[in-house]
Order: sequence, then structure tokens, then C-alpha cells
Amino acid sequence: NDVILSVRNVSRIYPARDRNKLFANQFVHAVRDASFDVRRGDNLAIVGESGCGKSTLSRLLSRLEVPDSGQILFMGEDIASMKAKRLLALRRKFQLLLQDPFSSIPPHLSIGRTIAEPLYVHGGLSRSEIRDRVAATMQEVGLSLDLFGKLPVGLSAGQRQRVSIARALVLDPELLILDETLSALDQVEQRKLLALFQRLQDQRGITYIYISHDLGMVRRACNRIAVIYLGRLVELADNRTTFIEPRHPYTRALLSAVPAVEERPFKAETYLLEGEPPNPIHIPAGCSFRPRCPFALDKCAIDDPPLAARGRDELAACHLTEIDPHHQ
Ligand code: SF4
Ligand code: MG
Repeated sequence: NDVILSVRNVSRIYPARDRNKLFANQFVHAVRDASFDVRRGDNLAIVGESGCGKSTLSRLLSRLEVPDSGQILFMGEDIASMKAKRLLALRRKFQLLLQDPFSSIPPHLSIGRTIAEPLYVHGGLSRSEIRDRVAATMQEVGLSLDLFGKLPVGLSAGQRQRVSIARALVLDPELLILDETLSALDQVEQRKLLALFQRLQDQRGITYIYISHDLGMVRRACNRIAVIYLGRLVELADNRTTFIEPRHPYTRALLSAVPAVEERPFKAETYLLEGEPPNPIHIPAGCSFRPRCPFALDKCAIDDPPLAARGRDELAACHLTEIDPHHQ
């Protein structure tokens, strides 16, 4: 198993603020001691409720932010502590695609020029080589060459997303981080883009990280699923385990709230999530899920369960899974 990205003990804390007003001595614990590996060829999902730290994690993994502690090793090199020159060279290999690419598509540039932009930034190709590569990439993502010289006005949401995918692809990336990339699209367009991502993976060997709240989509597209609660990784398992026999009580609650997984042969007992939504400023002592966990034990109030190996190729952070690995 060739590891392309290794996240090691990464934490990120912000000062808490409300409309630019800072709260003295209050901190948002956005990501807490996250450790996991992404393997080459993975479609790894990162899921959790809003406010769980998904967006912070996506900014850390794409190096828009640096962690307060820990390492993020991309192909063996720590992007968190990397010098600017090396980072620019490596950046083309890992790219972030956001939900609404329109903000990053300049309205006054032709679509061909927009897709070519990163090639000009990174240099090394002639104008005609750039033209050829842009045209080939447009065809690869299903954009008509008629659009080459046109301005982006009037593009559909799906076409705009294809422009941003093409702009990432011209640099021949190894890893694409998809932060809610498909969330604004309708089901038909979503499925088309998922098929495109799959084809690009087959042909180019691209690895994907899907950061998403859409568990139905994740179930179709991802082979491994990382579940985050209050900035902590609580479960990491393959698709089958996550959607059929999840171990962590939070994963079970998340799944039970999702109608899109209706036809699953779901083995674990489900229940609805109650209690306060997570607040990353006030993290409960012990297991952070305890205030909402129907299975909590006495020790859960004191000891924060470590993320530990549970079945084959699976990690979970829960005291129950220490006692009875299947606890069903
Ligand atoms: Fe629930 Fe305890 Fe497991 Fe936390 S460690 S999820 S409180 S049983
Ligand atoms: Mg978010």
C-alpha cells in the first residue's frame, strides 16, 4: 500500500471570534491530533457535521493553512514546513477543488486562457504546447472546443466545475482534494462528474479526497471513509464496514440520519442523534461525543479514547470497541 499523503498528529487552533470580535482566552479547536494515511488510488471521504473541522482539514491538506503542530507528508515531504520554492514546484501535484469555482474563474478571461493560466505560472512550455494541452484537457473533461475563446458568462454550474477541473488537470496532479465540489450540482450532473473522476483515476492514477456532508454520494464514490467529530478522527474504515457495520456510535448516528443509504443491509442498531450540536470552543472532557452518546460508560467522562486498530484495516476511537470489538 503506497501512501501518497500521511497526516501525522495534526492540530489547528484558532482564537474564537464573532463578527471580528475576539473572545479573550477562547479557542476553536478545529482539528485535534489527526493522524491518517491516504493511499495511492484511494477515494477517501472525510465526513462529519458542519463545524467538525472538515473545512479546516481541507485547507490544511491543500496547504492554504499550516497546522499548529504535526506533519503533513505529501509523497514523503512535509508540506507544512516546506520552503516556498519547493512548495511551488510540488503544488501542481496536489490541488484543491471547491464547491463554487466561479469565484476563482476570472470573468474577463477566455475559458481557454483560464485553463492555461497555471501552465503560464509554472512555465516551461511554449505557447503552442500550452494550447495543445489545454485543448486536449478540455476534451478530456467534456468541454466543447467551441468554448476555447469564449468568456465564462452563461456557463452552467457543471460546466464551470469542468473548467476548474481542467485547470487543475493541466498540471498533471497526483492528488485532488474535493471540498464539497459536487454539492451545488444536481444529481444528474453529480453522477456525470463522479464518472469523470473515476475515468481520470483509471487513466491517470489520480487519488481523491472527498470532503463532503453527502453520505449518499460518499457511499457511491469512496472506498475509505474517515469520520470526524469535533476535530477528532473517530473512525476510519472501508466503505463496507462504514456503511454496513460501523463501530463508532457517532458513525452509526450519522448514518441513521441519512435517507440516501436506505437500501443498505445495515447491521448495527441505529438511533437518532440528540443533544447539543458540537461546539468546537467547549470540548467536553473525556470522549468528546459523550454528551450525545447513548452508550457512554463511566470512564468515557474521564478518558479520551485513542484512535486504535479494530478489525482488519480499521481504526476507531471508542471505549466500547475495546471491550467488545463488535458491540452490537
Ligand atoms: Fe460513547 Fe464512550 Fe464510545 Fe465515546 S468512548 S463514543 S462516550 S461509548
Ligand atoms: Mg465546513
